[in-house]
Amino acid sequence: MKNLWSFTVDDIGLDGYSTEKQLNNILDFCDEHKMKITLFVVPESDDKRMDKRLGYVSILRDAIKRGHEVAQHGVKHERFEIGIPPEMIMMLPHEGPARKFLAENRDQLTDEHTIEKICKKLRLGRTIIEDTIGEPVQGFRSPALQACENMFIALVEENYKYDSSTYLQKAGWDLLNGIKSKPQKITRESFNSLQKSKIMREFPLTTDYTWYLKKENFDEALKLAMHDYEACIMAQIPFVPLCHVGPIHEGDDGLGFELYRRLLSNINAKSLTLLEISEVF
Ligand SMILES: [Zn+2]
Repeated sequence: MKNLWSFTVDDIGLDGYSTEKQLNNILDFCDEHKMKITLFVVPESDDKRMDKRLGYVSILRDAIKRGHEVAQHGVKHERFEIGIPPEMIMMLPHEGPARKFLAENRDQLTDEHTIEKICKKLRLGRTIIEDTIGEPVQGFRSPALQACENMFIALVEENYKYDSSTYLQKAGWDLLNGIKSKPQKITRESFNSLQKSKIMREFPLTTDYTWYLKKENFDEALKLAMHDYEACIMAQIPFVPLCHVGPIHEGDDGLGFELYRRLLSNINAKSLTLLEISEVF
């Protein structure tokens, strides 16, 4: 197998975490480095539908012409719209209100996450993105990695070609939570154990190395990114890092992009979109 990897970007269109200017910057960076990437777009943010936001519509249509992929990121990017985020995400400092909500409403959320209700929400979001780009959407990633068994069943029922809502490297969030930990082992077995169906591919991401990246965490984050890349290549599975539109810009001194510049000088393969990888892997 060739070394496969895909640079993926989350939260496109999510107010407070994404601007058109920042998205353009990322696309320019990727073109400069000849990377094809997958853009996970939020269908509706703060009651604004993506297909009505003409600035984004034109950037996204142009991105597709440049060879990138547009995929779906949840529905409204609410914390519990189709599942529950993993513990390490719920621990992040900005998740305080969501933690409180979860503690008080867990049973009600289980009633909310039936296959039928999830399918309906998925369709709603997918239609908005398809109207935005004028072509079919094949891939999905849930907001804040929320998930439940019914979500994966619903994704298969709705014929998504791939999902990327699972993860392989918890140490990235430990770094953000100030917890000292060793990198998680990444193996073919851990990848296989996350596959949900024979007909829908699951492409677990590793982690986000550039979430408001601070100077003091730079070396550790870069080391983790190199570790994960090499582990994925050894395991012969695709390396799928993610970044977020605003946060990769808003760390110390542009270090988010610097991390990728350094990582890229060690990677001897071009980033492909997840859809392209789903066709060859
Ligand atoms: Zn998100």
